[in-house]
Amino acid sequence: MKILVANLGSTSLKWRLFDFSDEAGRILHRGGYERVSDHSKAVEDCINELTRAGVISSVKDLAGVGFKTILAKDITGCVLLDEKVLNAMEAVNYVAPAHNPPYIKGVRIFAERVPDVPLIGLFEDAFYQWVPEVARRYAVPEEWYSAGIRRHGFHGASHKFIAERSAELLGRNDVAERAKTLYVKGASTKINKPDLRVISCHLGGSSSISGIVNGVAIGNSLGMSPQSGLPHNNRVGDLDAFAIPYIIRSMGISLDEVERILCKESGLKGVSGVSNDIRDILKAADEGNQRAKLAVDLLIFSARHWIGAFYFEMGGADAIVFTAGIGENSPDIRAGICAGIESLGIKINPEANKDATGCEAVISAPDSKVKIMVVPTNEELVVAREVKRFLENKKSKSSCKI
Ligand code: AMP
Repeated sequence: MKILVANLGSTSLKWRLFDFSDEAGRILHRGGYERVSDHSKAVEDCINELTRAGVISSVKDLAGVGFKTILAKDITGCVLLDEKVLNAMEAVNYVAPAHNPPYIKGVRIFAERVPDVPLIGLFEDAFYQWVPEVARRYAVPEEWYSAGIRRHGFHGASHKFIAERSAELLGRNDVAERAKTLYVKGASTKINKPDLRVISCHLGGSSSISGIVNGVAIGNSLGMSPQSGLPHNNRVGDLDAFAIPYIIRSMGISLDEVERILCKESGLKGVSGVSNDIRDILKAADEGNQRAKLAVDLLIFSARHWIGAFYFEMGGADAIVFTAGIGENSPDIRAGICAGIESLGIKINPEANKDATGCEAVISAPDSKVKIMVVPTNEELVVAREVKRFLENKKSKSSCKI
């Protein structure tokens, strides 16, 4: 079974093609385009590349196309992306303005180009369906909660992969198995003692931190929208709700302009004034740029804040795992986050940390109670696997438990 996973941005298309002739699945092809102005052409080029590379002979070889979709009103899990679901995504475009519109547009393009291939989305909030109610709530009136003002949590595919892989690396195959079959109805939930507590730090263009007990998320730093939690590359992160009416009234700018600034001109870019890429910001900070240094410090401060929250909530942690572009590749950011917390049993090994870039590694000191690890994420594999399950189980509307 061949499944294409398409990652859609407002100006990008990236893909991985998986072959599931064996259970684990393997990548047959990966590629992508940046600075895309015509997504229809990009989709056509992608199909041509796959055909030219000989990994498909025609689109008929595709059992399905999977998407790491973000948010839909009152829908989550792994679902067929029909018009009803696309409309539910459109209904919350205001919540995910940088993410939902490109996905809706891209899915419609695929639907036109490959009308006979099922298009399936694994929503990024599906991993948080077992989060306790208290961790979903903002302190707003009940009617607002019913209207959708609530914490969702995102980066579900990435944090789920970390839940699986970290458990394997920690020798807890029971937890790894549970994490892998989390969305499978009737799958075993039997877990040996003690509980496995993992803090997963997805630090990239978009950043979030999850607390995970025995493969199941207990919360995520991202709340109602993918603009919350830690500061992101150019999106704001957490902000007091009253900042918005204040800035509209005091600066006389429109709500649309506020949304644009919070989505495109804020985060690490807004604070540093340098770039939305942490590599440029780290370089500028090294050269003495104080705003760049502040942006770096803010990312570290915010990451520590959320790690601390989950450490406290779980009564400690067995592992802290770093993943995604920054988490996998930046020893400086990891060292900053883990500095001075030896009294909590968290002690980094500076040499191992420096050597670990883009590969699996343990970077804690031998006497650290909490293992600190770097684990490259594989969100596309999580999506592909759920798409496969969905296709094998077509009769049920969703392969997820929700
Ligand atoms: P992602 O969203 O996971 O693709 O991560 C993108 C982010 O990772 C960007 O902000 C990049 O600057 C950052 N990144 C990529 N490579 C490195 C690196 N070698 N060192 C530090 N940050 C990196």
